Amino acid sequence: MRLPCPHCGSRPADEFTCYGAADPVRPAAGAPAQVWHDYVHIRPNPYGLHNELWQHVHGCRRWLVMTRDTRTHAVLGARDGGSRGGGAA
Ligand SMILES: [Zn+2]
Repeated sequence: MRLPCPHCGSRPADEFTCYGAADPVRPAAGAPAQVWHDYVHIRPNPYGLHNELWQHVHGCRRWLVMTRDTRTHAVLGARDGGSRGGGAA
């Protein structure tokens, strides 16, 4: 299996590491405990398109946001994820 990197092109999947959902936004300091609980423990499990945070650890080391269809595991695209990767806007 190969995955797309916007910097390196199509690369073997074992060069990448997945860190889970890319969409949750880190709460601000001082946010209520329930908000932190939900951020840390409650994760989406979508049936269909899903943005995931990946790092090309054995390549350019950039954070990436990949869009994957959970029904077929097809990767529909990847874009740079910025400095922490999360900024999935
Ligand atoms: Zn890369």
